[in-house]
Amino acid sequence: MSESALVIPRPLPDDVNALLACCPPDVVLRWAPVLHPVTLEAGVRLYGSGSPITHVYFPLTAVIAVEHSREGDRAQTVAILGRDQLAGATVLLSADSGAERATVVIGGTALRLDAGALVAEWRSSSELADLMARYLQCFVTQVAQTAYCNRYHGLLDCLSLRLLQLIGTDDDVEFALPQVALGGLVGARRERINLLLGELRADDAVELRRGRIRLSRRGLLRHVCDCHGVLEAAQRRVCAAGRG
Ligand SMILES: [Zn+2]
Repeated sequence: MSESALVIPRPLPDDVNALLACCPPDVVLRWAPVLHPVTLEAGVRLYGSGSPITHVYFPLTAVIAVEHSREGDRAQTVAILGRDQLAGATVLLSADSGAERATVVIGGTALRLDAGALVAEWRSSSELADLMARYLQCFVTQVAQTAYCNRYHGLLDCLSLRLLQLIGTDDDVEFALPQVALGGLVGARRERINLLLGELRADDAVELRRGRIRLSRRGLLRHVCDCHGVLEAAQRRVCAAGRG
């Protein structure tokens, strides 16, 4: 494999998923018959709670939260997946979703791929297998870092981290996001989220109007903990060994 990295434009165009752009072109060509654009509504469950993962999703403008839950417990968000990621990649490790479930946080577009096609190419293409190994390592890092952040960092740090993950590769974004959904991302009640949003508003990191939220990368970076740097470094390694 060439050590030269694939150059991906930043910020990403709305029709590009960076992980898919790093996949071997011959593999993507063979996926074409089972790789389809879809529109995902906020709140929709894509897979979860023990059911088989039949499709995986390369998000474009949609953002997907991966949650873990046990029966009777509140779900805990463990990862947020956007245009650099793939939802459902753990199908490479296990055919069913176990305690993992994926829910659309921000409605938008994605490319949906038949899970069987991902598994088949993963078994036959060493280049794709290497890429997916690096991606799964990055996913595990995000899950572990989220747990660390929840345990050792303050709620304002955790909220700022989640909001930066929602922004993805953009500088500033605006979208519909109910405050109850924000609370779910960090496992906090609405009253506590309101107080924290007040702090972020005062510093021009967020702007709220009529059920919509506008996020400023520059503003949020003033509040986030060092977990953000860890996640960015892990993400950079995924496509670092590019195809040639
Ligand atoms: Zn943190």
